[in-house]
Amino acid sequence: MKINNVSFPIKETFYSIQGEGFFSGIAAYFIRFEGCNIQCDWCDTKSSWKIEKKDFLTVHQIINNINEKVKTIVITGGEPMMWNLTPLTSILKKKGYRIHVETSGSYPIHEKDIDWITISPKKKKRPLKENYKKMNELKIIICNDSDFSFAEEQAFYAKKSNCVLCLQPEWKNNIKILPKIISYIKNHPKWKISLQIHKILNIP
Ligand code: SF4
Repeated sequence: MKINNVSFPIKETFYSIQGEGFFSGIAAYFIRFEGCNIQCDWCDTKSSWKIEKKDFLTVHQIINNINEKVKTIVITGGEPMMWNLTPLTSILKKKGYRIHVETSGSYPIHEKDIDWITISPKKKKRPLKENYKKMNELKIIICNDSDFSFAEEQAFYAKKSNCVLCLQPEWKNNIKILPKIISYIKNHPKWKISLQIHKILNIP
């Protein structure tokens, strides 16, 4: 099969502002994959869990939908690493896009062609050990006090990768948990805060 005809289940694509992490604030084109079997209670993209036959798009269709202003592409989900992304990322790379991926890290990461890998580990299905050395950014969602020790456990595995360390409040717990995150970062300055500014701005 020609690479252009390989297809993937795509929940949605949109051009917006990256709201989270190190690249928060830049314009980015998002490709949201369907499929995730981790099922975090607080997931804000539950609609992407289920893989729908009708949502499959070919690489050709995905690329044709990207507008000419786009420089950075964020591949997210769901869990995009459930799929071998190489047929898509190799063509995006050839076209000159900067490629970022957001993943739980619990599936193998084919890092060729990818410029920035953000791993957001989940307690229910921890990252594969081999993935820690591939990541550029570790993003831990903080819902409650126990998540700070989970963050340190994950940072320990990541310590050789020299990556950016982010703590991000779980959106619905924002008001309660934010003061604790601020205080924690002041005491542990290797971390930085990640806010979901797209939610504050009310954009996708
Ligand atoms: Fe949602 Fe991500 Fe958790 Fe999957 S890993 S359930 S997409 S937050």
